[in-house]
Amino acid sequence: MDDVARVREKIDIVSLISEYIPLKKMGRNFKALCPFHTESTPSFVVSPERQIWHCFGGCAKGGDCFEFLMEYEHLEFGEALRTLAKKAGVELRDSAFAKGLSSKKEKIYKLNRLANEFFHFVLTKHVVGKKALSYLSSDRKIDDRLIETFMIGFSPKSSNALVNYLINKKGYKKEDLIDAGLAFQRNRDIVDFFRGRIMFPLFDHRGNIVGFSGRLLSEVAGLGGKYINTKETLAYHKGSMFFGLNTAIPEIKNKDNCIVVEGELDVVSMFKEGIKNAVAIKGTALTDDQASLLSRFTQNVTLCFDQDNAGWMATERSLGVLEKKGFNVKVIKITNAKDPDEAVRSDPFSFKKDIKESIGIYDYFLQRSLTLYNKNTIEGKKNISDFLLPVIERIENEIVKEHYLKKLSLELDTTYDSLLKQVEKIEKKEAGEDGKKTIKADKSSRREILEEYLLAIVAQYENPSQITDKVSSIIKDYVFETPSYKKILDSLSLYAQKNDDFSSKKFLNDLPSELIKTFDTCFLLPIPKFEDLGKHRVEIEKVARELRVIFLKNKIKEITENLRGKEKEENSKEIESLGKEASMLINLLSQS
Ligand code: ATP
Ligand code: MN
Repeated sequence: MDDVARVREKIDIVSLISEYIPLKKMGRNFKALCPFHTESTPSFVVSPERQIWHCFGGCAKGGDCFEFLMEYEHLEFGEALRTLAKKAGVELRDSAFAKGLSSKKEKIYKLNRLANEFFHFVLTKHVVGKKALSYLSSDRKIDDRLIETFMIGFSPKSSNALVNYLINKKGYKKEDLIDAGLAFQRNRDIVDFFRGRIMFPLFDHRGNIVGFSGRLLSEVAGLGGKYINTKETLAYHKGSMFFGLNTAIPEIKNKDNCIVVEGELDVVSMFKEGIKNAVAIKGTALTDDQASLLSRFTQNVTLCFDQDNAGWMATERSLGVLEKKGFNVKVIKITNAKDPDEAVRSDPFSFKKDIKESIGIYDYFLQRSLTLYNKNTIEGKKNISDFLLPVIERIENEIVKEHYLKKLSLELDTTYDSLLKQVEKIEKKEAGEDGKKTIKADKSSRREILEEYLLAIVAQYENPSQITDKVSSIIKDYVFETPSYKKILDSLSLYAQKNDDFSSKKFLNDLPSELIKTFDTCFLLPIPKFEDLGKHRVEIEKVARELRVIFLKNKIKEITENLRGKEKEENSKEIESLGKEASMLINLLSQS
């Protein structure tokens, strides 16, 4: 057996996936809300027997234990293999896998770690970092302990300090540094990417350094923006991580809340004041990826962005992203400063009060709209309702929704009913758009859908091979739109002749390989929960009968249409035989 098979054999997919998302038993399989796309009804299915998973919802992803981990943790295959091998206690024999040579990403992590040690050394021990160290401690009130906690560093101003260290002292190649985003080619030279900057290593939630952000020590012309981040590399993707998350995870879980701020120094300053559940999005708007990442640790997010237009806009945009994922969102309004870092430095007591008084996102929006527009003019009223109603319309809880509609009607001095009418208009418009989408997505005919459903409830029956003869006797001469379903049914019957009990593994051993995928799909497809075996059986028979009825009706329709054509030609012999066939089919139909 090769490494991959040995690991796969030792890992149980149900317990693996349960470590990440809650699974619920449904018949033969387990179900959950898909972690890879946003949905409100579970269509993510895991099969303990087949040791595979599949999403029947929007994203249609699926695979085995390796593919799950790769997808969930954004790993390459080699990384996933090594992680699972460790978990399973399997020693890898293939040296390329064992040493991690296959992963370029892991090489970048290693380089970043060395670079970080270098920057950190320069800041804390070297004369070149003296100015930066004193700026941090006197101007920003960041002491040695915080510098250690966040592993902050300094990149020398010279053009190749890090390059020299990594190439001459550590034996790396130029290309390695470029791949990691630590250096770039300028004419014939290779130059440090970060120069003269306070360096913040960016850790992912597993503790790998994926990249850096660097803040200029003093704003000098020609050195670029105040902050620069590592460019896209294999390891660093903009908008997929937070600064500070790895340090904050324990406290986020503990408080069951995460405060999201804009900047690195906001996180560091808050940490100093004992507010340790804060993470930074680093100036950009919150992305879907970031929201998914957070949802693994808490469902409660408190936004605390800068008190300026950019900050308000970021709050509004972030709400949409967070709402889709079902977060409870609150907002902190800072009373005495521009951002959390300044707030901590100028008046930590007042800032902590601000945190305590964080308001629900809908109250925040209400207050915002009232400061943006004049509620006493007709135009102002329209603007306020245009701004707020789409937000209120999305509120799931009807009681909460009514609360805000009432509040708004008081503010605008309009009736509750006219607001409600307006909300219904928005709902209708959205439903219309959704409706169009589903019609488009659904190209399969009713027969194809029923066939798939029939195969799914047969395959997921306690002993599928025990019911196939009954199914065959009901559908008789039915011709499948999807021929592979017929082949699978026949194979199940054949299996039943040779075996008493059913094992999917044994069954799949004899199934032609081109049918395995179809069988797996049916084996995992979400089906209703049946109270008992009897009810499950009744459903199977009902669906089989329904299929045959549709089939017969179609055939009768075909013949009568054919007859009408022939009557014009006055071909009496053919008319007679078609007539006979039709009455026979009608007879069959009445018996079904
Ligand atoms: P500081 O606290 O470091 O003096 P600041 O509070 O003025 O800076 P802002 O300009 O408000 O910082 O930026 C907030 C955050 O946005 C920064 O901490 C940084 O993460 C990110 N950021 C700012 N400018 C840039 C940029 N040019 N490129 C990338 N990210 C940036
Ligand atoms: Mn700041």
